[in-house]
Amino acid sequence: MGAETVIIEKNFINGAWEDSGGEKIAVIDPVTEQPIGHVCEASAADVDRAVAAANAAFPAWSALTGAERAAFIRRLSAAIRAHMDDLVALQKRNCGKPPAEAEADFTGSIECLDYFASQAEALDARRQQDIAYDIPGMASVTRLEPMGPAGFILPWNFPMKICAWKLGPALAAGCTVVIKPSEIAPFTDTFWGLAAEEAGLPAGVLNVVNGRGAVTGAALAEHPDLRKIAFTGSTRTGKAVMQAATNGVKNIGLELGGKSPIVVFEDADLDLAARLAAEGVFYNSGQCCNATGRLLVQDSIKEALTEKLLDEFAKVVLGAPDTPGMTMGPLASKAQYDKVTGYMEIARKEGLKCLAGGGPAAQFNSGYFVEPTLYTDVPRESRLWNEEIFGPVLCLRSFASEEEAVREANDTEYGLAATIVTEDDARAARVAARLEAGHIYTNTSVAIPPQTSWGGFKQSGIGRELGPWGLAGFLEVKTVTSRA
Ligand code: NDP
Repeated sequence: MGAETVIIEKNFINGAWEDSGGEKIAVIDPVTEQPIGHVCEASAADVDRAVAAANAAFPAWSALTGAERAAFIRRLSAAIRAHMDDLVALQKRNCGKPPAEAEADFTGSIECLDYFASQAEALDARRQQDIAYDIPGMASVTRLEPMGPAGFILPWNFPMKICAWKLGPALAAGCTVVIKPSEIAPFTDTFWGLAAEEAGLPAGVLNVVNGRGAVTGAALAEHPDLRKIAFTGSTRTGKAVMQAATNGVKNIGLELGGKSPIVVFEDADLDLAARLAAEGVFYNSGQCCNATGRLLVQDSIKEALTEKLLDEFAKVVLGAPDTPGMTMGPLASKAQYDKVTGYMEIARKEGLKCLAGGGPAAQFNSGYFVEPTLYTDVPRESRLWNEEIFGPVLCLRSFASEEEAVREANDTEYGLAATIVTEDDARAARVAARLEAGHIYTNTSVAIPPQTSWGGFKQSGIGRELGPWGLAGFLEVKTVTSRA
């Protein structure tokens, strides 16, 4: 899987690579806009076979001890390590990510798998202990059991890591899985099939089917023989997946969009605030569910912060992943480019005040490059203030008081993440307690360690990934009550 054309015409089902007769889907390099290979679309019948394999493998896999499953999970992370250079090269070509960001998708996956291997070992002790109740005349114990075969529907922005967030806890809990990568970035997630072979995973424990959401994804979402669907992507598609999952009444985990605020108070370290605001909207070209696209700044420091922010914008070097010194790549696809430039057009129509960027990056002959963009004094009712853009576009509004800052920050249908920048610890704690979001950051970048939790309030999703909560998302709770 190096720099050559990548052709994947097979699905990984029941431990073997099966020919897929499905339609070819071209995969595009976002720098050259040329195909770098293709995958073939899995049909509903292919999905059926993958789900049947996951069901057949479930009894033996779930009967292993957590420690035994942990050994397999560690071998999966070793397989990623062994192929790291090729995987990073592929991710740069497929997604246009800067080298360090491409690498982080894999190091993050390894960290996540290693964490959940430890959780699998710890689960042995938790299961054996059972939870005993003191109820007169009755004896009850509660056990934790794996939920069953699960389907994953994945996005293109962090293809590998977002799969690892689901795969680690699923395998640790004793679940088997069927993975549907994004058609835009399918190659590295198809690698999970190779990793399963190298790790010696029993046949059927991990299956991969490529294809579009409307065909392969829909077949997975509505499949009655899965016990769980774990989805990451847009809120719109998440709603469709949730509806489809009612077939068979499956458990569901939704990690959806966001419009996360970064709130800067007048006592903040302004250099830090400018750096965090820039990083929060430039990482992965702004194509992050936790991108801090809404900057709320206290009136008294608005001008000073804007100046420092413009310095940060000026440091951005757009370029192809292998261009020396580049800091930001193109958007990942034509659809995403059209969406982001569409928002820039809306901004022009709305008459927004643009302080930096505001359009496609004209210096390139090809590629989905857009300028890092800053709008200021954005009205509350602007579409750019309210909708997820998923590009390097920052919108700024100012506030007078802490009360107003909290109200503005929470005034959104989303609730994934929020950042507070202040030197006042008491204020940080007060505001964090009032913000409606799944992960709050104070004076730090929006990193997501696997030991913590990830997921949203409101329309940002259902359930939590990572940490003990991620594991709980693949466990059933069973209570056995007997006469004492
Ligand atoms: P989507 O939500 O459309 O896609 C996410 C996954 O769902 C893909 O694997 C997709 O398949 C699949 N899918 C699409 N339709 C269905 C369906 N009816 N049933 C089952 N699966 C389906 O995201 P996009 O990739 O199109 O991106 C659109 C927007 O979503 C972005 O602009 C961004 O705002 C947001 N997004 C948010 C992410 C996050 O991390 N929260 C991640 C990615 C996107 P396929 O694409 O292969 O056809």
